[in-house]
Amino acid sequence: MEQIETRYETVIGLEVHIELATKTKIFCGCSTKFGAMPNTQTCPVCTGMPGSLPVLNRQVVEYAIALGLAANCEINRCCRFDRKNYFYPDNPQNYQISQLYLPICHDGEIEITLGTGEEEGAAEKDGEKSRVKKIRIHEMHMEEDAGKLIHEEEGDYSLVDYNRSGVPLIEIVSEPDMRTAEEVIAYLEKLCMICRYLGVSDCKLQEGSMRADVNLSVREAGCEALGVRTEMKNLNSFRAITRAIEAERIRQIGLLKEGKEVVQETRRWDDAGGVSYPMRSKEDARDYRYFPEPDVQPVMIFDEWIDEIRKREPEFQEAKAERYRKEFGLPAYDASVLTQSRHIAELFEETAVLCKNPKKAANWFMGETMRLLKEKEIEPERLEFSPKHFADLITAVEQGKINQANAQKVLAKIVEEDIEPLAYIKVQGLESVSDESVILSAVEEVLSENPGGVAEFLAGKEKVFGFLVGQVMKKTKGMADPGQVNELLKKRLRQG
Ligand code: ADP
Ligand code: MG
Ligand code: ZN
Repeated sequence: MEQIETRYETVIGLEVHIELATKTKIFCGCSTKFGAMPNTQTCPVCTGMPGSLPVLNRQVVEYAIALGLAANCEINRCCRFDRKNYFYPDNPQNYQISQLYLPICHDGEIEITLGTGEEEGAAEKDGEKSRVKKIRIHEMHMEEDAGKLIHEEEGDYSLVDYNRSGVPLIEIVSEPDMRTAEEVIAYLEKLCMICRYLGVSDCKLQEGSMRADVNLSVREAGCEALGVRTEMKNLNSFRAITRAIEAERIRQIGLLKEGKEVVQETRRWDDAGGVSYPMRSKEDARDYRYFPEPDVQPVMIFDEWIDEIRKREPEFQEAKAERYRKEFGLPAYDASVLTQSRHIAELFEETAVLCKNPKKAANWFMGETMRLLKEKEIEPERLEFSPKHFADLITAVEQGKINQANAQKVLAKIVEEDIEPLAYIKVQGLESVSDESVILSAVEEVLSENPGGVAEFLAGKEKVFGFLVGQVMKKTKGMADPGQVNELLKKRLRQG
């Protein structure tokens, strides 16, 4: 095994398709909304009726430029569409409008960070083990998606749904710069992050709004020339991608060691079986009889348009995290976690400013809020509440107006219904009992009701203390601050 590792190097390049979050399709006004009844979001254009003509959706071009800028690409000032011809039932026109000769973006790069791991605390050791690597982008181009074939289990027929036909895609082609599955995942995560920050796509592998084809070859270490590659499809999760890379690497190395050759082909990954199967021999551009698309005008992109898009560029994750470290004095780990989603970051930031306690706000976001999202299966992007409410709650906790346990209940209400916390605390009677005399009288009651417990404690059975605290909390209906109860009870017991 070890020998394989050092003798052969794995080389990986990715072709990633991203479904754009536009309201309408790339060449017609049909809705792109997911989940509608089959074939209800179609028209003559996206079903390839003779005589219909495509009209380019301006938003698609804007998204492509925004993504290109974020990935440091050159933007082609004149880009054009081409016809990729192939016959398949999911493709009603018998060609796909794509870009080959003059794609919208080319020659970019994306920086990935490796070795931070996902475990909590890993990023705290920032800079120690993590390293940065640049993955070059060969090009990005715009194209239309195909329909969806549905193969019924029974019966000798298939169904086709054209709702997806004409949904805009951007294909991002990397250079073969990746060497490991870890690098591939880091690259995909980075792409996702950029797309989500830009609002260009939600990038869900499982739902198909992000699709990654893995091109992989192996070569002897130190060898300059690239080996023969295969392209793997049907990779629906990061886990599948990692397993597929490992399996394909081992398969190819096995062939080479036996003196055989790797066949250039497209393979389909079967995640259940943990193996890939040949699908078709690798076609190349010539097979598709590409030619310039005559029905869509070339797109002229002027500097003014690019500048306008650049001006609207959001503050991306790294910059945001850096600012949170500097402005709010947050640890690197917190800053990194809080900026993974732009939406969460913005909610956090407003809350932090309002409650004037960024570290406390960070703790509430990273701990209880994230836990609630998981428990209630709410997507981070769907989280909606007014930061003022959250800030008021944090301040109330800091001022001892409400204890931690009750504050968590109120937070759940804020996350679910955006309630006004101060009024809610009053109405529900959740205010803490911080009045010493009230707590002391509860302590006295508990002590006189539990002489046995007290005796045991005094005889050295420390465990009883927790029970006594619990009794006092019960008497105050959970409204006392457990810390304060602890302290007062201890003091009282010492007095004997
Ligand atoms: P095609 O036109 O056949 O799709 P491309 O040259 O566009 O081929 O490359 C497709 C993807 O395959 C790119 O991401 C590229 O980096 C990657 N790639 C090309 N050659 C190799 C190779 N020998 N090993 C690994 N990846 C490769
Ligand atoms: Mg290609
Ligand atoms: Zn249509």
